[in-house]
Amino acid sequence: MADAAAVSAAAHAGLDAPQTIVVIGGGQAAGWVVKTLRKEGFAGRLVMIADEIHLPYERPPLSKAVLAGEADIDTVRLVKPDDFTALNVEAWQPDCATSIDRDARIVRTQSGREVHYDRLVIATGGAARKLPASIVTTAHVAYLRTLDEAVALGERLRKSERVLVIGGGWIGLEVAATARKLGVAATVVEGAPRVCARSVPPAISSFLLNLHQTNGVDVRLNAALVSLDDHPTDANRVRATLADGTTLDADFAVAGIGLTPHTSLAEAAGVAVADGIVVDHFGATEDPRIFACGDVANHPSAWLKRRVRLESWANAQNQAIVTAKALLGTFEPYAEIPWFWSDQYDVNLQILGDIPTDAELAVRGDLSAKRATLFHVENGTIRGVIAINSARDLKIARKWMNQGRAVDLATLTDASTALA
Ligand code: NAP
Repeated sequence: MADAAAVSAAAHAGLDAPQTIVVIGGGQAAGWVVKTLRKEGFAGRLVMIADEIHLPYERPPLSKAVLAGEADIDTVRLVKPDDFTALNVEAWQPDCATSIDRDARIVRTQSGREVHYDRLVIATGGAARKLPASIVTTAHVAYLRTLDEAVALGERLRKSERVLVIGGGWIGLEVAATARKLGVAATVVEGAPRVCARSVPPAISSFLLNLHQTNGVDVRLNAALVSLDDHPTDANRVRATLADGTTLDADFAVAGIGLTPHTSLAEAAGVAVADGIVVDHFGATEDPRIFACGDVANHPSAWLKRRVRLESWANAQNQAIVTAKALLGTFEPYAEIPWFWSDQYDVNLQILGDIPTDAELAVRGDLSAKRATLFHVENGTIRGVIAINSARDLKIARKWMNQGRAVDLATLTDASTALA
């Protein structure tokens, strides 16, 4: 990676120091870019173009505390309004960048404004994937991506008796857990044979399934949704029909079926896109003046040893910091071990690193007691960890993983001896 830093530094060496930096996007990654730029001493013009009215905020509470009515914009803000004012950012909100002219280095917006950039950061994130219009005839279906959507969804959820959740991924399971906490009945419809199939191994899918079932959620696996309509006798409710003819009724539906990255601006400008905007270890695209970070960026992960587009809180923050430094000529490769967490009922689940299917598995604790750490070991070192209510084990593992420290399976699995 030292070589990569040298190559990237050389590509940027011929450029003048930036006077104007434009950030497209107003989410967590954009927020960290502007914060870091000022912290690192950038004193030039800083323009942030975002289509939401809110200043940057963090998304993890949206599917939990915000839905439950326990948190609002003041709780989830990334930067307090006074601190944001102190950053001296021209926040063009709500507005939407509509084109990037790379030759003239101009970004144009929907409201008719334009700005000339020396460096540009695309931190446009993504939108909730929508159910195909061909199978939806009801208006009673919601998606959860933005704060306003979470507030509206929470208000509706708290007035409902039963919610139908389409998708047994992280949004779906967290919405179902919040619904149960509020005393609302929940049905989850998942197309795959297990929940969160793309991010956790079968044992953890079974654990999550059991967790939801014991909390009263009706989980339907291998369930292909063929239509979502108004209820035939009550147009204020919904009816889902599955491929096997089963019908499921609810007050309304929420779909959490994945995220579509907002790459169209970059594509139209001829910036390379392949499951996200293609960037290097520093957030730089092939155009030395254009960078991307957060959910929309596809970067080489040093830990996973492959390119990846990560949709997580930790990535939005840490990749943005690396990118902001590179914008100012400091090339420190992004080398964080991917990390993700979810809170559902009384369970805090964290995933760190890679979870290879052929790795040796060392289990510490007891999954059925809701306290366990699953270490995935390859060639005597930890490649990845799944921690169920065992954040401390994960913290220690992170340290060992960063050190490349050799581990002994017997020590990992012996819960009677402290890891450290
Ligand atoms: P997700 O985690 O990718 O889960 C979507 C699920 O919906 C998948 O299991 C998918 O199955 C299933 N699905 C897709 N189409 C379906 C259909 N027509 N009917 C039934 N099931 C269907 O995506 P998400 O839950 O929407 O979350 C969006 C993003 O936000 C993700 O990146 C997620 O990681 C992130 N998020 C993070 C947190 C957190 O950090 N705690 C919380 C919430 C969300 P297939 O895989 O088979 O397509």
